[in-house]
Amino acid sequence: MFEVVSAKYIISSPKVDLCPNYKVPEVAFIGRSNVGKSSIINMLSNRTDLAKISRSPGKTQMINHFEMNYGKMYWVDLPGYGFAKVSQAQRGTWTKMIWDYLEQRTNLATIFVLIDSRHSPQKIDIDFINKLGEKQIPFTLLFTKADKSTQAEVQKNVKEFMQNLKTFWDELPQHFVTSAVKTHGRKEVLSYMQQVSDLKMEMDLA
Ligand code: GDP
Repeated sequence: MFEVVSAKYIISSPKVDLCPNYKVPEVAFIGRSNVGKSSIINMLSNRTDLAKISRSPGKTQMINHFEMNYGKMYWVDLPGYGFAKVSQAQRGTWTKMIWDYLEQRTNLATIFVLIDSRHSPQKIDIDFINKLGEKQIPFTLLFTKADKSTQAEVQKNVKEFMQNLKTFWDELPQHFVTSAVKTHGRKEVLSYMQQVSDLKMEMDLA
């Protein structure tokens, strides 16, 4: 199984053109604010404060790159959507930065879209996912905070979410149920990350 043996913050970039060029795959993380993105990045990397770096002043609205396993893979912490207090202009800047990154980043193996497992499907998440589908950007769903509700409740929300997507798409995306607190899903997500990364390397980057 893929295991994280090193994790290092590299750089924060305000746009895709300024991101470093790598010939190895990267995976990115996104979701609405408070979904548990920092917690899951820390849980997966087995570090306590890796994602804290992306939260320091000046970096919250940037594309944050982390070098994993001495450069075998990169992880990217992207600024989330759904902040209540942002101006129209800030929203425009976010939209351009994110979609430029997602559409132009050639070494992107998948984007992990985080969904809070405590809630029934939210329009903001469905809209974002549908746009990824329309643009044929590969994505994977990570349902977060599974320890916060009963298993039955989590399953109900996940099922409802997938059914909602089914009204738009024939093929459903890969999804994992996780808990940062219980480290639930860690092994599965890391193995999957290795798989998509290997595939990306073989197909596009070799
Ligand atoms: P971010 O804004 O998306 O980076 O979210 P954070 O990682 O900061 O998490 C938001 C809140 O949810 C924090 O209070 C976390 O402690 C909590 N949280 C995140 N993941 C989990 C989880 O798996 N289980 C529980 N119980 N709480 C979580």
